[in-house]
Amino acid sequence: MSAKIIDGKAFAAEVREKVAGHVSRLKEVHGITPGLAVVLVGDDPASEVYVRNKGKQTLEAGMNSYEHKLPEDTPEADLLALVKQLNADPAVHGILVQLPLPQHIDEEKVINAITPDKDVDGFHILNVGLLGTGQKAMVPCTPLGCLMMLRDHHGSLSGLNAVVVGRSNIVGKPMAQLLLRDSCTVTIAHSRTKDLADVCRRADILVAAVGRPQMIPGDWVKPGATVIDVGINRIPAPEKGEDKTRLVGDVEFDSAAQVAGAITPVPGGVGPMTIACLLANTVTACCRANNLPEPEGLTA
Ligand code: NAP
Repeated sequence: MSAKIIDGKAFAAEVREKVAGHVSRLKEVHGITPGLAVVLVGDDPASEVYVRNKGKQTLEAGMNSYEHKLPEDTPEADLLALVKQLNADPAVHGILVQLPLPQHIDEEKVINAITPDKDVDGFHILNVGLLGTGQKAMVPCTPLGCLMMLRDHHGSLSGLNAVVVGRSNIVGKPMAQLLLRDSCTVTIAHSRTKDLADVCRRADILVAAVGRPQMIPGDWVKPGATVIDVGINRIPAPEKGEDKTRLVGDVEFDSAAQVAGAITPVPGGVGPMTIACLLANTVTACCRANNLPEPEGLTA
């Protein structure tokens, strides 16, 4: 194995420590405690785990956490009323509505009802537009975490060829915008891309956000490239016992690590950075709401 392993777990711990430092200064100097409200509709077990982790880490960073758990059959109007209430609450600086929402609720309508300044997921149409035009935005947490790791590893990203595989609104598109903002030459690949292997082989920075286990083998990786694996896929692991599973990324880690210059593992790469960036976005939102200087290094 030749690649440096980018330790997302350790990096996320550093980000959380920085966030906690800012939070304690906000409290001591300004008497302000940042607050994050998380709304969960229904009882999807994976979403419940995410929400619990978010709440725990919010409190550990010294911030206030407000959890709203609503039943699966909550009418859309009731959810919109709660969002309106949180928008108006000065103790709440960040609002996150856990996705996916139940079928009967229009996700876009709910996301766009969140006041853009409190949209710590960065999914509101205004934040998407601000990011796309290079203006100050709330930046989606997963791509922000990827960008932080890339900046940390490379210093400047200027002039590098970046290939993002995946064009979702949550990961692929904002990732490409961030890389463009840092002056990479960006290609966005997707399910209709011709000769994906060849496109990937040209990447100095290869970001995989597809959702297909180990789809990208080592021989698609340019020697020395930096590989950021966003994918989280659960596959059977008979070697661990009957019915056991394990998590893998979208990249075939073992073969890619032979060729790449640096690579994020799954688990322990991009995943831990996502919640850390949610906390970072909440502090940033709190500072902006109070006309205070933004903490350095915690946003794009
Ligand atoms: P998504 O909305 O399903 O988008 C997947 C993208 O991959 C689409 O743009 C799709 O292309 C493209 N794609 C599918 N098959 C392909 C193929 N054979 N070749 C090339 N491109 C292909 O997924 P997402 O929400 O962006 O998530 C992607 C992965 O990241 C998932 O594994 C997810 O669990 C993970 N994720 C991780 C975190 C984290 O915190 N680490 C956060 C979010 C997501 P088309 O547009 O053409 O269909």
